[in-house]
Amino acid sequence: MGQEQIVVAGGGVGGLGAALALARRGHEVVVIERDPLHTTSTPDEAFGWERPGAPQTHQTHGFLARIVVVMRERFPDLLESLLGAGCPTMSGTASLGEPRPGDEDLSILLVRRTTFEWILREAVLAEPAIEVRSGAGVTGLFAGPTDPSGIPVVGGVALEDGTEVVADTVIAATGRRGDVPGWLEPLGVEVPETIRESGLMYLTRWYGVPDAFATPPAPKLGGDLGYLKFLIVPGDGGMISATLAVPTDDKDLRRALSDPDRFERACRSLPGPDQWFGELDPEPIGGIRPMGGLLNRIRRFRDADGRPRVLNFHAVGDSHTVTNPLYGRGCSLALVQAVLLADAIGAHDDRVERTSAYEAACSEQVAPWWAHAVEIDQSGADPTSGDSPDQPQRDRLRAVMAASQTDPVIGRAMARLWNLLTLPAELNEDPEFMARVMTVMADPETYPVPEPEGPTRELLLDAVVA
Ligand SMILES: Cc1cc2nc3c(=O)[nH]c(=O)nc-3n(C[C@H](O)[C@H](O)[C@H](O)COP(=O)(O)OP(=O)(O)OC[C@H]3O[C@@H](n4cnc5c(N)ncnc54)[C@H](O)[C@@H]3O)c2cc1C
Repeated sequence: MGQEQIVVAGGGVGGLGAALALARRGHEVVVIERDPLHTTSTPDEAFGWERPGAPQTHQTHGFLARIVVVMRERFPDLLESLLGAGCPTMSGTASLGEPRPGDEDLSILLVRRTTFEWILREAVLAEPAIEVRSGAGVTGLFAGPTDPSGIPVVGGVALEDGTEVVADTVIAATGRRGDVPGWLEPLGVEVPETIRESGLMYLTRWYGVPDAFATPPAPKLGGDLGYLKFLIVPGDGGMISATLAVPTDDKDLRRALSDPDRFERACRSLPGPDQWFGELDPEPIGGIRPMGGLLNRIRRFRDADGRPRVLNFHAVGDSHTVTNPLYGRGCSLALVQAVLLADAIGAHDDRVERTSAYEAACSEQVAPWWAHAVEIDQSGADPTSGDSPDQPQRDRLRAVMAASQTDPVIGRAMARLWNLLTLPAELNEDPEFMARVMTVMADPETYPVPEPEGPTRELLLDAVVA
């Protein structure tokens, strides 16, 4: 396949991952990042650098097993650098008895998002075939030569500084706020999108905990009280981040928890965070960082007949598909798409075939996770909550959920699902998993459902306001 001049708009996880994968296939890549890039020589310096173009870099991030597997298979040097920088992996099967084949895939990565991106950027900067330009963003696209298919073609990008860059292929990796439909509209291309709001906003604060990995007091990293979801994630550099995710329409709770003292009191009242805050007495680093606008969004780059809507143009990461951040999928899916796109470009010189191949791969491997996120947003991660009149069925489902904490088969299958390693449809076709589920459902008393932990909304508000 021929060498191409490729422009990547956006230097976040998706853009940097795509640049790396394509440069290593022999292409010349220019990454154009709107945020001015500072020279940073340590993860702590990278943490201190604000990213107006990607403010979520300072929000709590979990890195699922899928991103570890993608790096192991496609970017082993990145994984090695992360481990070398003191970012450990944590087994997802520790409570599931004797090791089984496949457990080696089920480890999550503990790292600050800023460190993850720093390691990725260092790898990109070291790649001779990649040029990184920062400080002047892309403002739009211009058309390329007409294609016999009649499908509009992109020829390059226009920048904020008034210059243009001609490209064989343009990749949009401009994140959740990037206006891909607005860029394509002047070329006569309509990109339909479907949006489902998560109904949540994040309140996040960082804390210093020397030796955060050495003595994690609580293996449980998150919880869901219905009215409030919470996460506490140890990162590298002796820091932990605590996030309280509040329904956007619960203004009283949001107001109360936006106060730093009350935020901390809430953390001390929640199962899991209480142990970090109780035993280790973390030192706050900066204030509370709120973030809203959290949604699920998917864009469609093929028409109803499966024909590409545009050629020489692709989107990766949040520019293509955004999932509710609560499920921690965005960075994994961005890196998956970076690899899928590099493979499609490597396999097809023909532009129509290339776009079709990439979008078909996204439909198979990315879109199901979007649909799943929307589904669990609607039903709640706990399918037994709500007012279903079928009490016996709820009891059976509760028993299956309780079993997933310790049962070697159900626990591993659910861990693979939550870590994007087994598609939801594949789970239902796994005979060992389904047989085990049937056994538990037939005798739900074997797995007594634990008492719900954590305060009610009223008790929490009383405790934080007191
Ligand atoms: C609150 C929150 C919490 C999250 N938690 C997790 C988590 O736990 N785990 C997880 O895996 N994911 C999480 N995500 C999702 C994850 O952050 C994103 O999916 C991921 O950053 C997507 O990468 P990206 O490259 O598509 O976009 P980004 O990383 O957002 O990068 C886009 C880049 O494009 C640049 N840019 C924008 N416009 C232009 C332009 N016109 N020209 C040039 N450059 C431009 C921006 O400056 C930015 O650097 C979270 C997201 C949010 C909002």
